[in-house]
Amino acid sequence: MANSALNPPILMLDLHAQHAPIHAELEAALHHCLKESSFIQGPAVGAFAQALSQHLGISHVVPCANGTDALQLALMSLRLPPGSEVLVPAFTYVATLEAAAILGLVPVVVDVLPNTFMLDPKAVEAALTPRTGAIIAVHLFGQCADLESLRRIADKNNIALIEDNAQSIGATFTTRSGETWVAGAVGEVGTTSFFPSKNLGAMGDGGALFTQDASRAELLRQLANHGQIRKYQHEYIGLNSRLDTMQAALLQVKLRYLNQWTSARQHVAAQYDAAFTGMAGVHTPARDPRSTHVFHQYTLRVTEAGCRAALQQHLLAKGVPSVVYYPLPVHLQPAYHYLGYRTGQFPVAEHLCQTVLSLPIHPTLVPEQVAYITDAVKCFF
Ligand SMILES: *Cc1c(COP(=O)(O)O)cnc(C)c1O
Repeated sequence: MANSALNPPILMLDLHAQHAPIHAELEAALHHCLKESSFIQGPAVGAFAQALSQHLGISHVVPCANGTDALQLALMSLRLPPGSEVLVPAFTYVATLEAAAILGLVPVVVDVLPNTFMLDPKAVEAALTPRTGAIIAVHLFGQCADLESLRRIADKNNIALIEDNAQSIGATFTTRSGETWVAGAVGEVGTTSFFPSKNLGAMGDGGALFTQDASRAELLRQLANHGQIRKYQHEYIGLNSRLDTMQAALLQVKLRYLNQWTSARQHVAAQYDAAFTGMAGVHTPARDPRSTHVFHQYTLRVTEAGCRAALQQHLLAKGVPSVVYYPLPVHLQPAYHYLGYRTGQFPVAEHLCQTVLSLPIHPTLVPEQVAYITDAVKCFF
């Protein structure tokens, strides 16, 4: 293995390298914001929302302060009766659950599919009760959950579908009849996050909501701004959840490169797949043939749970970082003990938490680095 592959070092996420070639554009955007000094709801906020709406082909984009607020605002816009149940996957980032819990709704945890790691539609159907108000589908790691099945279940039972699209911006799903659906546009509301590590990341916090419905977009916009319908007229109990003008200006620049960065991620994933397919000891990430994959994460599964820690140590010793997304399923997090779940209740998610391992995948990884990483993994087994 060539040592030169480690210079520069391999990072899990390399924002410095990502921003270096567009430094001048980012600086110009910041400079413009400073000159204009319209820091809250400045012109860049609307301009970025418009650009993102065009980029994704989603009618309405409502910016907000972060992806967790986006989930909370999405649920607030549904006006569910207190105590309504919200179905969430057991294998996700905690924010999905948190947004429901903080509103006094009841998160109902549902197990996931072992291959795609996402909501199991059969388990969703089994979890429905007369109190179910919404399903939150999480498009995990870069591809779409089974949108067609989940949309059908939501429609059949007259409940809302929310898409947590913090990780799969730009992914699409092809239905049985050949229609192409855009992740985030299929639910009553879609949400995303511009946390710096996401595929489209700000330089601080940021988030957005998606909807195809103009009146819901207006409601979301009001809810995100103190429930205000006109200046000093507060129709709803809302949040102070706005995207900063400076973040919007930076995101506007970065959006122009999103497609190119996504291709680079897909290219790295293809190199990983080619190296690991058929190899004993690991499963490569399954690709749902109906969905494109924007590879927010490249997540392997080790076939023996017991060897994951040793593999991680081995990689680290060779200068290769890796991360476990996620080490504990949401139903076993201490904050959610009150929901009464037990170990063993969602065996797929629990097993994933013991076997998944995400390798570095970012747009500036060079082929030599990817080859170095695949060699490092191979020589462990
Ligand atoms: C990042 C993330 C969030 C939260 O977004 P923030 O902007 O950090 O609040 C929610 N859900 C998922 C699946 C995420 O990956």
